[in-house]
Amino acid sequence: AAGGGRAHRIAVVAGDGIGPEVMPEAVSALETVARLHGIALDIVPFDWGSERYLAHGSVMPADAPEQLGGFDAILAGPIGDPRVPDTVTVWGYILALRQAFDQYVNLRPVRLMAGVPGPLAGVGPGDLDIVFVRENTEGEYSGAGGRLHAGHDAELAVETSVFTRGGIERIVRYAFEHARAHGRRHVTSATKSNALRHAMPLWDECFARVAADYPDITTDSCLIDALTARMVTRPGSLDVVVASNLFGDILTDLGAALCGSMGIAPSANLDPTRQHPSLFQAIHGSAPDIAGQGIANPVGELWSGALALEFLGEHEAAAALLAAIEATVADPATRTRDLGGTASTAEAGAAVRAALGG
Ligand code: ATP
Ligand code: MG
Repeated sequence: AAGGGRAHRIAVVAGDGIGPEVMPEAVSALETVARLHGIALDIVPFDWGSERYLAHGSVMPADAPEQLGGFDAILAGPIGDPRVPDTVTVWGYILALRQAFDQYVNLRPVRLMAGVPGPLAGVGPGDLDIVFVRENTEGEYSGAGGRLHAGHDAELAVETSVFTRGGIERIVRYAFEHARAHGRRHVTSATKSNALRHAMPLWDECFARVAADYPDITTDSCLIDALTARMVTRPGSLDVVVASNLFGDILTDLGAALCGSMGIAPSANLDPTRQHPSLFQAIHGSAPDIAGQGIANPVGELWSGALALEFLGEHEAAAALLAAIEATVADPATRTRDLGGTASTAEAGAAVRAALGG
């Protein structure tokens, strides 16, 4: 949409803790890359979060989905605060929006960037470049189940996974479509059908059925335990990985750790049908231990902004922003402390804008 196109409307929630420190860097990088590529952006801030909860009893207003419904994308910061229970900040924010907007894909690229010291000996850039496609609406996190006989020896808890053919097929199909659109050649399915006797065989069947529609892409199924080990021993054997809600949750935190810092990894909660806005967010939390010091790494939120541009069809701008992020991270002088550097949040952000040429 270079020149002439309608402005992309982006809602921005800076959130809590380090959110208000990293978000201005992400927004200003987006504005810079948009100006250089002739893209019109209409950015609207929302001051939701824990301060709002402490004053009014909810982190965002009840009509938040209506307020955000008309936007093309949401760039979200972390909401979390030691004074507020996790159930309030998680269910009252990300999970509520995910549900309201049927964001059934959780896309999490995991890539070891050049110059970043990762924890795996002998694994360099190019050896670790995986896109995780995590199911985001059903499976192990369905909430179905309950507890009986509280306090007795016979007390029991039942947690029911709910998998549907429709739910599995749409996430698997997205994984193949994403692979095709991005020149990736292999899709791995995370399974556990040797031990989980109902849900995972259905998962395997759906994977095989959808895979048959993509003869140009090779596949394999890997048991979740073996897959976890393989991420550490042979990460280069993985390209796109499709996983259930729980399996994807665990694999992607491992993936972020293998990339050198929690402060780098981005995520996208997508409604691929585009009936609702999708939401882009760094995977890290509010990091109360370092908040207010100006030392947080802004890269996770910046990279999430690049994912938003990509999803909005601005491929050149997205690639330019990602290249600027990589140049910043590759230079020890512009790296933040979590990556062994000394740069402040603002200095890292300024370096990204300079690398863009803005
Ligand atoms: P929450 O409950 O909000 O998820 P948390 O403490 O569980 O908070 P994070 O906030 O992600 O999780 O913090 C985990 C660790 O990673 C902390 O030590 C934090 O300082 C560090 N960290 C997280 N994000 C960043 C960042 N952007 N830059 C530098 N360090 C970070
Ligand atoms: Mg956390």
